[in-house]
Amino acid sequence: YFKDANPLDDLSRAAHVAAAHILAYLQLTQMAQMPTLRPPQNESDDGSMVLDAPTRSNLELVRALNGAPEGSLLAAIDMTVSPAGARALAQRLAAPLRGRAAIAARHAAIAFLVPNNELRDQIRLHLKQTPDMARAIARLGVGRASPRDLDHLRQGLAHARGVHRLLGTGDVLPQDLQDVSAALVEEYQAIDAFCDTLNTALVDEIPALARDGNFVRPDYHGGLDEARGLRDESRRVIAALQQQYSDATGIKALKIKYNGVLGYHIDVPIAHGDTLMRPPHQELFIHRQTLASAARFSTHELATLAGKISRAGETALALELDIFSALSREANALNASIMARASALAALDVSAALATLAQKRDWVCPHLYDDTRFDIRGGRHPVVEAALLKSGAPFIANDCQLNMPPAKNGENGEADAPDKSDRQAQILLLTGPNMAGKSTYLRQNALIAILAQMGSFVPAEAAHIGVIDRVFSRVGAADDLARGRSTFMVEMVETATILQQASPRALIILDEIGRGTATFDGLSIAWAVVEYLHETLRARALFATHYHELTALGGDLEGVANASLQVREHQGDLVFLHEVAAGAADRSYGIHVAQLAGLPAGVIARAREVLMLLEAQDTKSDLHGLSLMQARAEIGEAKEPKEDALRVALREADPDALTPRTALELLYRLKGLL
Ligand code: ATP
Repeated sequence: YFKDANPLDDLSRAAHVAAAHILAYLQLTQMAQMPTLRPPQNESDDGSMVLDAPTRSNLELVRALNGAPEGSLLAAIDMTVSPAGARALAQRLAAPLRGRAAIAARHAAIAFLVPNNELRDQIRLHLKQTPDMARAIARLGVGRASPRDLDHLRQGLAHARGVHRLLGTGDVLPQDLQDVSAALVEEYQAIDAFCDTLNTALVDEIPALARDGNFVRPDYHGGLDEARGLRDESRRVIAALQQQYSDATGIKALKIKYNGVLGYHIDVPIAHGDTLMRPPHQELFIHRQTLASAARFSTHELATLAGKISRAGETALALELDIFSALSREANALNASIMARASALAALDVSAALATLAQKRDWVCPHLYDDTRFDIRGGRHPVVEAALLKSGAPFIANDCQLNMPPAKNGENGEADAPDKSDRQAQILLLTGPNMAGKSTYLRQNALIAILAQMGSFVPAEAAHIGVIDRVFSRVGAADDLARGRSTFMVEMVETATILQQASPRALIILDEIGRGTATFDGLSIAWAVVEYLHETLRARALFATHYHELTALGGDLEGVANASLQVREHQGDLVFLHEVAAGAADRSYGIHVAQLAGLPAGVIARAREVLMLLEAQDTKSDLHGLSLMQARAEIGEAKEPKEDALRVALREADPDALTPRTALELLYRLKGLL
């Protein structure tokens, strides 16, 4: 399959098997014409950030949770103007990078394009009109192309030339754009010659199907011109013949028509049908068909002419198809250079789109480091912010600082480490009422990290990030019934994956883990998970929770800090400030939110009663969890009758005074009282 030495020789066994499967699939589906294949390349292990399926889906990278593209990060950031650019952007989002140099190169391309508005606009104008060359060349490769694919190459290659003229080649260009510029002129002599051929060979308005012909320009091929001349000449003879027959018969309405069944034939209104079947005309006209409104005839002369036209048409079409095949072969021979141009234009589209986005939404260039800092100032959630923008509501920006190393000037160059603050820790425990913005805050930080490492600017005032090897994002209480796993099982399987796989360079986002089971179990698991993250994994993590008991860890463990979403109560109403502040939330306001959601007044009132009892109990005990259980018992008691026969009998029984026989009798009596 490959032109050169077998490139599969260098692959590992697993990669070999994968490649063999792809070849087998191609063999099965492309029997007629195998496409030209480029040698497989090993993607290096340390090349990209790992994002597993639950993380991709929780963070709604390319699809929202409901499965639609709208509402996803991709939809919010996609400002590309070509289909190839949109695909390249999606690919970058699917595999953010881990190499600082490669990431910085992408940032530099954006930084160059942000202030160069005019250049960017002109480039984007070209890109917008550039047809999808990658798709066209792929179809040409497997013999499924139409003349329009050649036309797409003709236009695409012309735009590539235009973009190259705009970009230039100078040293002022950052490396990524120099690479784009170089790819746009690869093998330029052969490509220019091919473009000239396409321009001389193809008409301006190309029909959709090769079998319709008429896509090759006159004067391109002598034989074709001749066949077409014959065909068109015969058509003129037919027009003259029609006039001749009409004059001879005196039937003005006589026409020579064409249809798929009879071919060329003479058509007269039914009233004149008899005229042609009677002398002197019956000698010349051969009756073919009578319809309700018309009679149809033929003549020997017409049949001969029709044969000539059809043969000339067939010859012309065959010649056009030959020309199409020859041009397709030429295109396939230039496959690599055409693909290089298509990929370069797609990459440029991504850079120009991200630069436009950065300028429109006021995003900044993030800085990447080799340590494990995570310092976001004034971070925003790109999707929620865009949604709020439509309704005119402001998005409240928030900082996030994790695991700051001591200030070190010089080593990483770009900036000093930011000041130490209360929230500076390896793990941030986030509390706050429902609807306050915990999930938004968690996700915005993960998204900022992903955007930074995919080579984009980020929605923040400043971002300093030690390169992350893997982002994990988990949300408690997400059912996966289709795969037969309950809420809690899913939650635990996913948590287990994180604890087994995370390295100290990971960023972990845990949203209400432990929620899917009984309070004590959930709290204990959440507690142990935080301790494990802190002591064993030593990874950066953001942990949102409703278990206020957990905030005790914020004081106990050195690397764990508390933060909370701020709310104000105003005349009995709850106002969400969406501001993250140091320290744990004092209460959870769940009942307020339930009231906002429209729960019946009776339910809200009873919930308040129960809460008061629980809180009263809570102050009596150090360990909130235990007091919870006792309080539950009391609440239960408050609703039960205080005394009954069973209790009286039990109280009166004296176990020490019982013989085996009276003990058995007592047991039966108690059972009878139930
Ligand atoms: P729950 O505990 O019920 O899951 P939550 O605390 O996780 O709630 P979010 O789902 O993050 O809350 O946010 C609720 C809504 O608040 C969001 O849909 C958004 O409209 C708004 N919101 C969140 N954060 C901000 C912010 N920083 N600025 C403005 N609005 C925000």
